[in-house]
Amino acid sequence: MTIRHHLSDQLLMAYAAGQLPEAFSLVVAAHLSLCDDCRAQADSFDAVGGAVLEEAGEIAMGEDALARTLARIEWLPRAAAPKPRRAAGIFPAPLVDYVGGDLPAVRWRRVGGGVRQAILPTDRDATARLLYIPAGTAVPDHGHRGLELTLVLQGAFADETDRFSRGDVEIADEALEHTPVALAGQDCICLAATDAPLRFRGLIPRLAQPLFRI
Ligand SMILES: [Zn+2]
Repeated sequence: MTIRHHLSDQLLMAYAAGQLPEAFSLVVAAHLSLCDDCRAQADSFDAVGGAVLEEAGEIAMGEDALARTLARIEWLPRAAAPKPRRAAGIFPAPLVDYVGGDLPAVRWRRVGGGVRQAILPTDRDATARLLYIPAGTAVPDHGHRGLELTLVLQGAFADETDRFSRGDVEIADEALEHTPVALAGQDCICLAATDAPLRFRGLIPRLAQPLFRI
């Protein structure tokens, strides 16, 4: 798998600092589990965070803090050996944890034109959804009021900017107006996060917007 569209340093830094809304963190974590390049970059930002902690002045904790922590560890049941993860599905591990399984566990809802979505439970600062776009189908032409991250999990789509396939992330902001089209051959499944409603040009998608929280 060759990934050509990666996360920005800005997003990786915000992720390392724990500053992203949950929906964006999920997309970042899912991409990291597919992309060695971004994982290496994320590790270097983690190292910066570690260095900052090392340099930070110490704040004393309660005198018995260490003893109490150790006592609790004693009480923890011995963890079972981790089960090997099945690699059969298309969902990266962080997404499997969210959905409670792979593709068959998703409860899709129709949004029109053959497109289906499933909104994932995250905090309300941003929305995460799975999108199912049948091969050859276009998502209505839209712009963005905020940030939109789209990670391809199956198939591929193309828009005015480029072509995106499994593992690729498209980072869209206010400047981008696009019409993503799922390429022929395989239905396209994506994980997308948005922090503001999209701006649709067409009337019908605009009317349907509040219904689908898109
Ligand atoms: Zn990457």
